[in-house]
Amino acid sequence: MDTQILFYIIIAILIIQFIIDRGLEYLNAKRYNDRIPQELEDVFDQEEYRKSQEYKKINYKFAWFTATFSLIITLAFLLFGGFEWIDSIARSVSSNPIIIALIFFGIIMIGNDILTTPFSYYRTFVIEEKFGFNKTSKKLFWIDKIKGWLMTIILGGGILTLIIWFFEWAGTNFWIYTWFLVAAVSLFMNLFYSRLIVPIFNKQTPLEDGSLKDKIQEYANKVGFEIKNIFVIDGSKRSTKANAYFSGFGREKRITLYDTLINDLEEEEIVAVLAHEVGHYKRKHIIYNITLSILLTGLTLYILSIFINNPEVSLAIGVSHPSFHAALIGFGILYSPISEITSLVMNMISRAFEYQADDYAKDTFSPQPLISSLKKLSKSSLSNLTPHPAYVFMHYSHPPLIARIRNLKV
Ligand SMILES: [Zn+2]
Repeated sequence: MDTQILFYIIIAILIIQFIIDRGLEYLNAKRYNDRIPQELEDVFDQEEYRKSQEYKKINYKFAWFTATFSLIITLAFLLFGGFEWIDSIARSVSSNPIIIALIFFGIIMIGNDILTTPFSYYRTFVIEEKFGFNKTSKKLFWIDKIKGWLMTIILGGGILTLIIWFFEWAGTNFWIYTWFLVAAVSLFMNLFYSRLIVPIFNKQTPLEDGSLKDKIQEYANKVGFEIKNIFVIDGSKRSTKANAYFSGFGREKRITLYDTLINDLEEEEIVAVLAHEVGHYKRKHIIYNITLSILLTGLTLYILSIFINNPEVSLAIGVSHPSFHAALIGFGILYSPISEITSLVMNMISRAFEYQADDYAKDTFSPQPLISSLKKLSKSSLSNLTPHPAYVFMHYSHPPLIARIRNLKV
């Protein structure tokens, strides 16, 4: 295909995506002032609801600002030869394709971080702070950033090195080896994430003996769920928002409760949240999710292998020496409409799984404490009680609160 046409397609994709995203946000924002469904009238009192409205509006404006900024920067980069400039810097350092690619992506990562850090700083210390969510200190913010950087360098750099090495060695068949690599890493991560990655950022302690643990144990015995690892994580050092999640499988399976969850919820409600998580496990959602994402990765890599040797993909983003790393950027943008669709499908599946897990908790425990815990969690995160259905369809991995409550009450 003609390079010029491909270039225009890339520009069009970026602009159309921006319009669709902003359009959905706009539809969603128009519903902020809708009447609250009757079942949800007790989630907030008047003052809190006014606060949640304000929170949504501020986030809406902020998202407009960041999305516009990022579109302008990306377009400017494409129009004024930004990628060619970075590529030439990388090429002046080395002629080894792996080193060139590492420098190329390294510069993009640093540049991107310099541009986006002020936004995340503003979000944390101005917006979240204003609404009382933020517990992060400025010191912790920067320490997190450095740790995140080191992880990206080690993990991202390592994987990138191997992929280009596969490409140099196996040509377009690199996708098969890369697929195995990515599948192995994601399986490994799923199993050992809580044990290896989480401790870099948080402290986890086993749940103390006491009435909560007894209630959890009693429920677990009742449904035949072997549970050895229940951990409490110090989420409160960053945010007041509460959460619970399940990770790993087999002997590595564990449930992690945020300390904020334990503080905000009654014991019955915590067991209900846990019953929901056990539901995910019992319905094999974890296995389905991993399998699906591995299959999806394979498909993406296969399509990438068709495009990767096509010099036009590099040329289209303005890079004059076609290469694996330049084609990867071009492919990333060209593939994004497809990845939008796959993420939409994944969200649909995820929402269906959420209903199944809720049903499981309803059948094996009780619907009422789950309903009240969902309300409390929505309240503590000032979440949107009246989202637009189109927005939910595209972006929500969980059904909106009202839909979950109605399902639990059936
Ligand atoms: Zn869930």
